[in-house]
Amino acid sequence: MMPYGTAAGAEAALGRSMSWAEALWFRYSAAMPELWLTSHIALVYLVMYAVAPLPVMVLQQLAPAYALRHKLQPGVPQPSPVSVYLSYISESKGLTLSVLGPFPLIYSAAFKLFGVRTGLPLPSVWETAMHLVVYSLVEDYLSYWLHRFLHTKWGYEKIHSAHHEKTAPSGFAGSYATGTDLTLYTITLFFGPAIVPSHVTTHWLWFSIRIMEAFDAHCGLARFIPFFGGAEFHDYHHYAGKKTKSNFSSVFRYCDYIYGTNKGYMYHKRSLAKLKMKEVKHNMKGSSGKED
Ligand SMILES: [Zn+2]
Ligand SMILES: [Zn+2]
Repeated sequence: MMPYGTAAGAEAALGRSMSWAEALWFRYSAAMPELWLTSHIALVYLVMYAVAPLPVMVLQQLAPAYALRHKLQPGVPQPSPVSVYLSYISESKGLTLSVLGPFPLIYSAAFKLFGVRTGLPLPSVWETAMHLVVYSLVEDYLSYWLHRFLHTKWGYEKIHSAHHEKTAPSGFAGSYATGTDLTLYTITLFFGPAIVPSHVTTHWLWFSIRIMEAFDAHCGLARFIPFFGGAEFHDYHHYAGKKTKSNFSSVFRYCDYIYGTNKGYMYHKRSLAKLKMKEVKHNMKGSSGKED
């Protein structure tokens, strides 16, 4: 709940007029208890988990030939996207219950401790962007080492193997994992905002972006969202399977580069490029032979 009762009081405290976004935020949140406001994170989770895989599903449904052309593992048959989406929603019951249950309470308690702003002023675009960059770098580093731990014998057998049942992931596989797996990855999202506190709206944006990135990395289509470009990299991690020692990063690739865990992937890429070259040369020889 904001300490000012009226818009005029808020503007007096700010020392300036509110922007349209701040006026909107004031109308929405001024009388709302803080716990209720921070609990909105549950809504962010539910909406993003339901919506994030939809673009790939719609694309596969409406333009199957286009989707097949961009499929990273075209040899692996995929069931109907609609049926996969429906079973994805029904399989998400555990996730839904945890999001509606303990997660928002833990989140609210944690951020009361670390500091989360819910009032005015709203952060600027520049401030939000800087926070998101820091959060991404922190989370990427932590999730890299978490992922390596999950590929130890114990971590894999007890926690991570379910996620690797999908050797050719589609957009829905981002959340196909055990509850412990998802919880551990969710914890890594907290560290950035705990180190560099920000406004609650930045948290909503941060969690939304990270969920979208997770689904993008599992979409199974090459360069579907060029800005992220993570699908090809993470797809190899699933393709290589249990024994893989490659491609543990979530979004950026710098940790795999620094710690030398991209070698299998680079070798795979070079082999594919050589095969492609051979195929092109073979086809050229064939066509020139025909002309003669
Ligand atoms: Zn893995
Ligand atoms: Zn994965």
